Amino acid sequence: MFILTEKASVAQAMVDALGGFAREKGGWYANSTGDCIVAAQGHLLELYEPEDYDPSLKTWSLDSLPIIPSQFRYKPIAANAAILKRIRHCFDTYDSTDFILATDAEREGELIGALILDYVHFRHYDTARRFWVSEALTPEVVRRGIQDAKPLSHYTAYKEAGYARQQADWLLGMNCSRLLTCSARKLLTFGRVQSAILGAIYLRDKGIANFKPVPYWQFQIEAKLCNVAQFSEPFSMLMLFGEGDRVADRSDSNLRAAEKTIAQGATLTTESVTSEEKKENPPQLFNITGLQKHCSERFKLTPAKTLEIAQQLYEELKCLSYPRTPSVVLGDENIDVFKEKYNLLSKAYTKLAEGCDETNISAENKRIFNSKKLQDHHALIPLAVLPASATEEQKQVYFAVAERFFQTIKRPFIYKQTKIIATKDGYRFHAEGRTVIDYGWKDKDDTDGKESASLPPISQGDTLTITKAATLQKETQPKKHFTNASVLSLMENPKGETEHTEKLAGLGTPATRAEIIESLKRRNYIKQEKQSLVITELGTFLIETILEVPELKKLIAISTTTAWEQQLQDSPASFLSGITSFTREEVPKMRVTREWQPKDLGACPLCSKGKVFEGKKAYFCSEYKSGCKFIIWKSMNGANITPADATLLASGKQTRPKKMTSKAGKEFTARLSYSTAENKVTFAFDKAQKRATLHTF
Ligand SMILES: [Zn+2]
Repeated sequence: MFILTEKASVAQAMVDALGGFAREKGGWYANSTGDCIVAAQGHLLELYEPEDYDPSLKTWSLDSLPIIPSQFRYKPIAANAAILKRIRHCFDTYDSTDFILATDAEREGELIGALILDYVHFRHYDTARRFWVSEALTPEVVRRGIQDAKPLSHYTAYKEAGYARQQADWLLGMNCSRLLTCSARKLLTFGRVQSAILGAIYLRDKGIANFKPVPYWQFQIEAKLCNVAQFSEPFSMLMLFGEGDRVADRSDSNLRAAEKTIAQGATLTTESVTSEEKKENPPQLFNITGLQKHCSERFKLTPAKTLEIAQQLYEELKCLSYPRTPSVVLGDENIDVFKEKYNLLSKAYTKLAEGCDETNISAENKRIFNSKKLQDHHALIPLAVLPASATEEQKQVYFAVAERFFQTIKRPFIYKQTKIIATKDGYRFHAEGRTVIDYGWKDKDDTDGKESASLPPISQGDTLTITKAATLQKETQPKKHFTNASVLSLMENPKGETEHTEKLAGLGTPATRAEIIESLKRRNYIKQEKQSLVITELGTFLIETILEVPELKKLIAISTTTAWEQQLQDSPASFLSGITSFTREEVPKMRVTREWQPKDLGACPLCSKGKVFEGKKAYFCSEYKSGCKFIIWKSMNGANITPADATLLASGKQTRPKKMTSKAGKEFTARLSYSTAENKVTFAFDKAQKRATLHTF
């Protein structure tokens, strides 16, 4: 037997489960009967760069576009070359027809495995099997997974989708990034999904920036029930102007009249009270995107962080099921697993399990058990009690999953939604509120901000006394900026469907969504401001440049990207050939006219002719070609010199005090100033400090 895993931790779990293996010097595991277990480390091979096909393509130029390899080729990733060499050695030494591929059970894992097998000229495809398990890898699960491993050929569709996704993204990325960069004279990176998401953030931010608030007015009263038998707190009501409760004109005659007539002490008659009982079913189990949204809102963890922690809980602490899952259900046959985990965990976490109804663990409960809606892996569930060694963040993520697990079998949340209309001299007022009948799965103390006002028990004909009356001036509000959670929602559900439909093509995969956000941040296209994700100046430039080119504009429309993702799922081959023809036909038509104008940070103090610009590592003068040597390095004694600092320095001013480290390793604080005489940034100390720190240089 020969097993290839994607991760070292999986190889270790196999070794633990099978027994009899010892670690060899070369870094793999072998037993006395010639079986071998060896681990990769994520991707070990990558697509050729353009210059690997043709050295002349090392120089980026518009003339060489489009770049379309006649056949895609792969090369080892230099940093992982040793691991690949080890794996090849193992394939040579422990050649076995009983081969089991145990890379991660999803599209990307399938691709990682396929590329390695191709690289080592694997020969036993006809007998090879695939280890495909989404439970935590306890010894029992590993043994069963190996026993039940199906032929590798059953997973060909994943492999094809993996290749197509990677090659299509290469084509669009390489060609469009080079086109944009060469035309605009600024490094700009295009990504099929990434640029579509950035485009959506751009549109949202622009909508907010251009939003013109429209003022409106409301006439609000506070009233209380004056039955002798009932004491009630005042509650607010709004006057109705026809259908709505607002007017756009301060001098509206009805509003003016009401202000004169309706005052404290006046009474209203309740004209109608309508109540409707409403029910909110417990939420479904988490998939990874749902968990990431929850942890972002609740604990302010980034989606990447949540994924990382969930992976630790799965791999290291073995208390969580496989995290990279798109499903919110379990399979029809998973009832026993659910029951077993419930019995185990309800004893450990009695408080969380309060209110659970075990009869809901049944095949009838399609919200939990539904093989038709299962994709790749089942939903996230806790598998074991959280080890005491868990970190604070591991606790947060684990208990988010555990709490949701118990909630799914609790009673529905039931409340009465009540509408009241009361009148006074022909003026009509309305109020709406809810009375909770049964909290069910909801935590009483955990208000989600959607709670509406509670109303006293009022009946038709009751008299209300006005305790307060006032005109409110308000204005319409723009949409909110995107957050980590709402960007994930957009990627998961780009068409805005409210229910999980059977086959909804989201953007990216659950495992890559967090990385898309991180990558946009790393490239300085978006930044996080408190909870909001907002576009940067560079991101705006990139999108506005893309929008100027009709072929590219179409490419980043969410509708185009969604249609392509659907095609990638349905037919990887036609997806790739579609992208290839697009690249061949459309890229040569694209014309970019915008050019990046670096922001001028002020006049050059040295030559006073040029302007100061930001470079990669330093600020420099636009007249450098005529010999101006002005330079301010971006990093100095460990302190970061921002563009704002550069502006201060260039205009002869001092920066704010900065914490720095001397060459001898001592920390000190100093302001910085620029000396024209020396063309150098120098330290400026506050008087008291000077004596104390000067000797450290
Ligand atoms: Zn200059």
